[in-house]
Amino acid sequence: MIAQNLQQVREQIRDACAVSGRLSDDVELMAVSKTWGVDAVLEAMKAKQLVFGENYIQEAVEKILAVRAQADAAGLCGQNLRWYCIGPVQSNKTRLVAEYFDGVHTIDRIKIAERLSVQRPSYLPALEVCLQVNVDAGQTKAGVAPSEVLALARDVVNLPRLRLRGLMSMPDALAGFADQKAVHLLAKRCFDEVREGLKGTINHEGLLAHTLFDTLSMGMSSDLVAAISAGSTMVRVGTGIFGARSKTPA
Ligand SMILES: *Cc1c(COP(=O)(O)O)cnc(C)c1O
Repeated sequence: MIAQNLQQVREQIRDACAVSGRLSDDVELMAVSKTWGVDAVLEAMKAKQLVFGENYIQEAVEKILAVRAQADAAGLCGQNLRWYCIGPVQSNKTRLVAEYFDGVHTIDRIKIAERLSVQRPSYLPALEVCLQVNVDAGQTKAGVAPSEVLALARDVVNLPRLRLRGLMSMPDALAGFADQKAVHLLAKRCFDEVREGLKGTINHEGLLAHTLFDTLSMGMSSDLVAAISAGSTMVRVGTGIFGARSKTPA
């Protein structure tokens, strides 16, 4: 079932790319496995899905460890997986994010970024960071206002052990393609402005900050086609791969 769903979502991505004149390689698929167990992740892995997103940090860490152990036992390579934190990060959870994830897409405060920078272990590669931008002043209120993203980006590029990769957007759900696309275009415009604004900035690794700024994380099960047509480079799909979520974790 999961393998079939993945196949369908990949086709959707391919078609959306074709329609927008983009290469399908430009858009990465993140499987959002929140609330689903180790078996579901292993099933997706068998269907060649390697990038996963999790919202609830404690739940995620237990899952990451269990998946690693069981994947190796099942002849799959757990080390190849990439895990992204896509839920809110409180100060008391930054250490877990720094130690167990490959990246985080929900940074909207410098204080959290600073903690992650200090806590990222030296034996791991830099933590990949996307700043969350709130383009529609949406319900959750998470994310920075578009007018403040560039300033936050300039601060984050100076933090050791982090690598600023781009922006993430999660607008409130809208029904029609045109409305979905319009709101995703706001995030795309913000992304282009920040990338432009970073030109000439050298990050703490001595690299040009804007060349590393290549990720626009937006689009979920119900609006991924519109997000791709607006310029998304990473869609985050849960329901479309694993089915409807029944539980709401603590
Ligand atoms: C749950 C979640 C998703 C996936 O949503 P679906 O509608 O199930 O595809 C994507 N991004 C974030 C931040 C989420 O919390």
